[in-house]
Amino acid sequence: MANSDMTTSRKVYMETLGCQMNFNDSEVMLGLLKKEGFEPVEDRKLADLLIVNTCQIRGSAEDKAFSYLGTWGKLKAKNPHIKIAMAGCVSQQNKDTIFKRAPYVDIVFGTQNIHELPELVRKAFDGERHVLAVDRQKPRSTYDYLTDVTPVRDSDISAWVTIIEGCDYFCTYCVVPYTRGRQISREPESIIREVLQLASYGFKEITLLGQTVDSYGKDFTDNQYGLAELLYELSEISGIERIRFMTSHPLDLTDRIIEAVAELPKVMEYIHIPMQAGDDEILERMKRGYTSQQYYDLVRKIYDKVPNAAVTGDYIVGFPGETDEQFRNTVESVALSDIHAANTAAYSPRKQTPAAIWEERGQEIPETVKEERLRILNEAIHQQSFKKNLEYANRTVEVLVEGKSKRNAERLTGRTRTNKVVNFDTPFSEDELVGKLVQVEITEPLPFSLTGKMVVNDPVPVACP
Ligand code: SF4
Repeated sequence: MANSDMTTSRKVYMETLGCQMNFNDSEVMLGLLKKEGFEPVEDRKLADLLIVNTCQIRGSAEDKAFSYLGTWGKLKAKNPHIKIAMAGCVSQQNKDTIFKRAPYVDIVFGTQNIHELPELVRKAFDGERHVLAVDRQKPRSTYDYLTDVTPVRDSDISAWVTIIEGCDYFCTYCVVPYTRGRQISREPESIIREVLQLASYGFKEITLLGQTVDSYGKDFTDNQYGLAELLYELSEISGIERIRFMTSHPLDLTDRIIEAVAELPKVMEYIHIPMQAGDDEILERMKRGYTSQQYYDLVRKIYDKVPNAAVTGDYIVGFPGETDEQFRNTVESVALSDIHAANTAAYSPRKQTPAAIWEERGQEIPETVKEERLRILNEAIHQQSFKKNLEYANRTVEVLVEGKSKRNAERLTGRTRTNKVVNFDTPFSEDELVGKLVQVEITEPLPFSLTGKMVVNDPVPVACP
């Protein structure tokens, strides 16, 4: 049984659902709890504190969160000392109903209250029932309150760095502005401090995160500082070899940002920009603010200005009222846009959003149709991705080595500058190469990865400076 003695090390188990921002939030939460004497564990049965960091982007993720809580409630019935906490977007959105629906939950806290976690946990372990902290909107980024925390990260090589929270766009299907609030950019000094710390710990790669990461700085009232300026500053930090950023919004990807990607060797030639639909009427009803042609022009501009760049996207199928023809336009847009790959999802209604009301009013697309459309779109993306990967045949690319290949333990794996997974043969061991940049000749492009062999000119592996 887990030990609830406050003087010995207590254990925390974390379950994270959703996007990279949630994963970064969880890393920060574990860092905060570590300072309080909690040790992260992988077995929930050993934990004194169980936390689910939730996502509300789709109904399935929300259901999954409550399913974890149900299982943990049974665990708590046998071990009443256990405390259960719910974090993330579902907490933010459903704060008034969670304790009624799952009375065994002890703490509910929102995306803007992460920095208060130690205090909330202390209250719960001191016996306070139903500790609630869900603020709507803070004047500063949550991360600006987290100045001296070291996140507990999964990787020793690559790190997520959240630079902007919330979103001002209010796309008609999306719940993010209601859960994470309006856009708040983190102070540049705080970001630079974190990246300097990461460099001192030996991290080689950082990914700057935001729902609309390229709109970074638009909410600063006193200066013109934006993502491009931040990229230039972060590029100066020695030890950091690779800088990525995601997710971009087509309307905010300025020429200045594209120039920074083209000019700065440390900024990777990879841009993730969701298109969401390839039909102009659907794009308008989604309130995305651009046409399909404007999206194609943007991707073309990136490819023209940044040689060898890869652009990837996201799509939603089955948006309320989507006709067969509108869906066909989306399928055609995969090849017309010339993107390298895309994430796809079937539309899922989210309460509070206009699209959910349209669906209730009879514009719902049947689940079977959504599934079939998803299958067709995924097939088109599969073909497009393979076509773009074929361009890599016989090319030599720079790869940051991550470890052993999951598919073939004889090979190592890593990513290209364009974020493609490469599994490669090498005479060197995992220990010799992890965290290093190597050159790999691509021998076999596959639809979703590349296979190759390391170029060995020298008996010593190529090391990062
Ligand atoms: S821009 Fe992205 S995060 Fe913002 S409302 Fe639209 S889909 Fe949601």
